[in-house]
Amino acid sequence: MGEKKKKIVKTIKVDVDKCNGCRACEVICSAFHAEPKYSSNNPARSRVRVVRHPLKDIYVPVYAGDYTPAECMGRDQYTINGKEYEECAFCRASCPSRDAFKEPDSGLPLKCDMCESDPTLSEPMCVQWCLNDALIYEEREEEVEEEAEEEKQEEMEVGLESLVDKYGLQKVMDTVARMSKKD
Ligand code: SF4
Ligand code: SF4
Repeated sequence: MGEKKKKIVKTIKVDVDKCNGCRACEVICSAFHAEPKYSSNNPARSRVRVVRHPLKDIYVPVYAGDYTPAECMGRDQYTINGKEYEECAFCRASCPSRDAFKEPDSGLPLKCDMCESDPTLSEPMCVQWCLNDALIYEEREEEVEEEAEEEKQEEMEVGLESLVDKYGLQKVMDTVARMSKKD
């Protein structure tokens, strides 16, 4: 058994009853990740998207999760307050079956990065901009095995390999270079 190690788990709690669908979270996330920072905003580049149904006053913020190279074999369909949502509506994955959570220019997957662990941020940008307190940021410390971290590294390498297979090495390298460029 490997050594125990402390890790900070970051969570954004979403209270859908408090969300009014204003989309400020989408706007600020896309502006924060623009190059140069704050030079533009385009919700299509946001790492959070709000599934909206104004007639029934239903708004559900969904955060971009991991990239997947293959779509699911089965689909989920949700009905909330009598409104049926399209399949995959609340899925967090950047997946080949749809355009959600993809960088509009390059097609590369988007994933919430908790604002790049920017030490100047007291809280993630979307949380700061949500005036209705629908998004609440929390941190907790957990103990994990060292091996778990190694496994994660392997998973990351497999993920990168499939991105290179799909988009080509140059495109992936250009995007990584753009993301790591400092202001
Ligand atoms: S900023 Fe808050 S209230 Fe507005 S859409 Fe996003 S989560 Fe909902
Ligand atoms: S935590 Fe940061 S990166 Fe993630 S969705 Fe919110 S603003 Fe975007």
